[in-house]
Amino acid sequence: MKETRNFIGGQWISAKDESIAVYNPANPEELVAVLQNSSTEEVNLAVEAAVAAKEKWGFTSGPDRAKCLEQAASLFEKYADELAELATKEMGKRLAETKGEVYRSAAILRYFAGEGFRKSGELLPSADPTNLFFAKRVPVGVVAVIAPWNFPLAIPVWKMAPALVYGNTVVFKPALEASATGARIVEIFSEAGFPPGTINLVIGRGSRIGDAIVDHKQVDAITFTGSNEVGSEIAKKAAARGAKYQLELGGKNPAIVLKDADIDLAARLVVEGAMKQSGQRCTATSRVFVEKEILSAFQEKVLAEIQSIQVGDGMNPEVTMGPVVSKRQFNSILRYIETGKREGRLLTGGKACEGLDGWYIEPTVFDRVRSDAVIAKEEIFGPVLAIIESASLDKAIQEANDSIYGLSASIFTNDLSKALYFIDRIEAGMIQVNGETGGAEPQAPFGGMKQSSSGTREQGQAAVEFFTAYKTVSIRSH
Ligand code: NAP
Ligand code: MG
Repeated sequence: MKETRNFIGGQWISAKDESIAVYNPANPEELVAVLQNSSTEEVNLAVEAAVAAKEKWGFTSGPDRAKCLEQAASLFEKYADELAELATKEMGKRLAETKGEVYRSAAILRYFAGEGFRKSGELLPSADPTNLFFAKRVPVGVVAVIAPWNFPLAIPVWKMAPALVYGNTVVFKPALEASATGARIVEIFSEAGFPPGTINLVIGRGSRIGDAIVDHKQVDAITFTGSNEVGSEIAKKAAARGAKYQLELGGKNPAIVLKDADIDLAARLVVEGAMKQSGQRCTATSRVFVEKEILSAFQEKVLAEIQSIQVGDGMNPEVTMGPVVSKRQFNSILRYIETGKREGRLLTGGKACEGLDGWYIEPTVFDRVRSDAVIAKEEIFGPVLAIIESASLDKAIQEANDSIYGLSASIFTNDLSKALYFIDRIEAGMIQVNGETGGAEPQAPFGGMKQSSSGTREQGQAAVEFFTAYKTVSIRSH
């Protein structure tokens, strides 16, 4: 068990109020961590510390900031086993998945370390040829990082790495269910040499301290990943006081399987897309549109894939699907499954796993689902897949696009022209051909269309747009 404190101005500090206990979702009797229940008071201290550190860090050179990111990358690798174990015990996903996230975090840190050496502006031609005319990128200032629990390592890192390398200071609020992991990340950043005050951690309930962060006048920008419900409130508040904001929100990601596809590949990757991390990925496959000629063959293969899934404690290497994160999430998913039983035909799964003590749900598949059913419209964030029969590619695209979301989408086909047709018409920010709907790489822009994002993008060269501001400068030379 770990006692986890706030990190403010380089000091580990306890909040005034009583602490919050968190338990292992694979074994709800096992206490994993005791967390701070911060209030506005601690938020204010963290923002003050970030403000105090902002000038010095802002004037630290790119190559010097890069050294800290490089060092953090090496430390992530050094502590890979311990970090993965903590994340698995805290939020339940499999050790192989959390280990993957540790290495992905190291890759993100290395990519953004490189940014410390790249150009930080543009030289421009001026109407007056004697002018020296340039646009210089500068830090935005204090950035609030509000993260979800489903990628307890990678999401905080992919927000903090660009924030820091471009010279901002950070106030980080992890999701409650990922706070012990969040605290360990901050400890590693501190060991890597980031000066006191550049990264500040406030642990607590979003419902209690979220507003204090988002409304704080000295928070210049907010980068948020989480639910649409919380995200849209953040957008309103940030816009009202002119703060910059970036939102990565939910998804209801479709896959389309055409009759010419490699059906084995499609079944394997649709099931992986739906069930990986127990379906708790914003990019999880949750609707699959299948051409009617291959529907029964596809279903048979999907069932065979599901049969091979072994549900259990993510610490056990034989297990291929862990529990869901919390009792709340568990109950919410089971409610959707009951709705699904009224809306479609249950093919497999459909209940909590018998004989297991934690928050375990059977991988669940429905067919005969209409595209306007609740389970085909709302984000479930659990191991539930809806199969929808489709008469044609056009019909499938039209129904796939009939969603408030537009995060990721995939198509399975061996016909290049159909794949290109799909790419042009599908409303999604992340597109896969013969791949599962999930997946991101640090060098590529990540984000969704429609209500899946604020229209901004994270990662890759896109990150510089959010984490810097431009100063356009004209100098009369003679
Ligand atoms: P969530 O409930 O919206 O929480 C996200 C973060 O916001 C947490 O740190 C939460 O703190 C905090 N928060 C809660 N209320 C707040 C408030 N009033 N003001 C400010 N912050 C507040 O989302 P979640 O349950 O952690 O994550 C699941 C959702 O995230 C899903 O909808 C999923 O699709 C989405 N997601 C999107 C992406 C993407 O890149 N598009 C990636 C991953 C997940 P507490 O934990 O203390 O409540
Ligand atoms: Mg939440």
